[in-house]
Amino acid sequence: MEKQGTIKISSENMMPIIKKWLYSEKDIFLREIVANASDAITKLKKLVDLGEAANEEAYRITVTTDEKKKTLTVEDNGIGMTEEEVEQYITQIAFSGAADFVSKYEKAGGDGIIGHFGLGFYSAYMVSENIEIFTKSYRKGAKAVHWASDGNSTYSIGECDKATRGTKIVMHISADEKEFLKENEIRALLKKYCAFMPYEIYLNPKGKDDKPVNTTCPLYLKQPKDCTEEEYKTFYRETFADYNEPLFWIHLNMEYPFNLKGILYFPKVKKQVELERGHVKLYCNQVYIADNIKEVIPEFLMLLNGVIDCPEIPLNVSRSFLQNDRQVQKIAKHITKKVADKLTELYRKDKEKYENCWKDLATFVKFGCIKDDDFYQKVKEIIIFKNLSGQYLPIENCLGEEISEEDAKNGKEPQAVYYVSDENKQAQYIKMFKEAGLDALVCDTYIDPHFISYIEYKNPKRVRFLRIDADVAGALKEESGENKDIEEIFRTALKEIKITVKSEKLKNETVPAVINVSEFMRRMSEMNSFYQMGEMPTDMTLVVNTANNAVHALTAANEEEQNTAAQYIYYLALMNYRELKPEESEAFTANAAKLLEKYLQK
Ligand code: ADP
Repeated sequence: MEKQGTIKISSENMMPIIKKWLYSEKDIFLREIVANASDAITKLKKLVDLGEAANEEAYRITVTTDEKKKTLTVEDNGIGMTEEEVEQYITQIAFSGAADFVSKYEKAGGDGIIGHFGLGFYSAYMVSENIEIFTKSYRKGAKAVHWASDGNSTYSIGECDKATRGTKIVMHISADEKEFLKENEIRALLKKYCAFMPYEIYLNPKGKDDKPVNTTCPLYLKQPKDCTEEEYKTFYRETFADYNEPLFWIHLNMEYPFNLKGILYFPKVKKQVELERGHVKLYCNQVYIADNIKEVIPEFLMLLNGVIDCPEIPLNVSRSFLQNDRQVQKIAKHITKKVADKLTELYRKDKEKYENCWKDLATFVKFGCIKDDDFYQKVKEIIIFKNLSGQYLPIENCLGEEISEEDAKNGKEPQAVYYVSDENKQAQYIKMFKEAGLDALVCDTYIDPHFISYIEYKNPKRVRFLRIDADVAGALKEESGENKDIEEIFRTALKEIKITVKSEKLKNETVPAVINVSEFMRRMSEMNSFYQMGEMPTDMTLVVNTANNAVHALTAANEEEQNTAAQYIYYLALMNYRELKPEESEAFTANAAKLLEKYLQK
């Protein structure tokens, strides 16, 4: 005889709230129901191990969809429940558990409990108008039980004729949630949430050739020494559907002081400019929780692809709580350390491979340093930059000795390190540097401007970075090369153009003049345009090279010739600095034509 009962928790108000909050992620109900089935098998297995229960069949979970009957069923051959247990665990605990969840969720200010973990059995009401449970306990002589409820306030409970041990949850799917009756939809959800669950899960099984939808022993649970390279690659392909091979990977495997397992893969960066966000999937005892939980996994690691299984993360608390949890912080620190260790190991053991991977790694490493000082401290010696001859140098080796307070007071500046931001545009400067035996670092990725500022900020007494066109005069000048007469010629010729003129004898005879823009002013103006605050005038300096013959010859020329030639030299220098504006192009063409005419008529 079926008994009727009233659910004591006031759940009438709970459903609408849960439905509203979880609307966008209601598919998590399937994870909750399948995870319960999996737990029920684990419990039975423990009893079997202890000799307190017997089992002859393979443990399995079966999921079936029935579009006609409009039901979705999850069945396990686990521990099962007696009538008292159903009353206690489902009618009382499951419903009060949901009430508890709702109140925690409210306290968290709606900022979410990770993956809505802990909502449990009740979550199935998000998609069902009625749920039936058929269950039979492992206990000897236990009668099979049938329970049904629409999840609001009443339920019925009684005997049924279920013959086998275990629990069958039949969800009568609501009219507007029909998608949960489709096999493909359910398959996709099982793949997402249950891919690594520890017991085989079959969807709509047909016979002996059925294959489970999940992998019960995912690679990350194995000991690293037992995994082959091929297995790592296959696992990567299957888990992330990325057919590019990963560069390398880190297998996390620790049990003490906390339990943490997983594999982090460094993907090949597809495009330089745009960093793809990776996927770091968080699992708890082989149950998928969510992607990219930034409270647990340091933000910069989100550029990687990986799986992390950490049963010790408290999941039924709010995200803001998680962020301040000591244990979680330790886990994040540990992951960061492992990543740094792996990179360092690769650098020390296989520099060639490291250098070959660097273009894919660089942004990740630099971003990591900017975001996390601990990470910077651990990897600072393996951050490399190409120099002008294409060799990689560790940035740490390019920094100078720390200057003393005393020296700093006397105006001594920290070591200048020159860099190139665009090898094509700065070709002329590069050539001059190379000929003079000077070097510079190539900093041409979009994160580099931020990164070099960061290095300066971390090493204020050891380095200042100067773009190769910032201080050619400083880098290439010889002692005593100024010539006031020549400066005057240029100032007169360029009086319409606002530019500072300076003369210097450079360690180069072929180039008559170069443009310099101070590093500080250029960075300011770049920042202005970045924040769209309009263009800022940059104070250009024309450095006239008194080691150049043409410049020398100017002193002997007449005024008109001086003007034309000085302007010509100016435009040449400007062209080597940036593209000419239309009016500059026009002026230069006229000027060049005049000069040619003179030259040919002589
Ligand atoms: P939780 O799983 O977080 O305890 P649930 O609301 O999901 O909360 O479930 C409540 C309880 O009902 C479980 O703790 C378990 O004792 C029981 N239960 C749920 N599903 C099953 C099942 N498939 N087999 C056996 N017991 C179950």
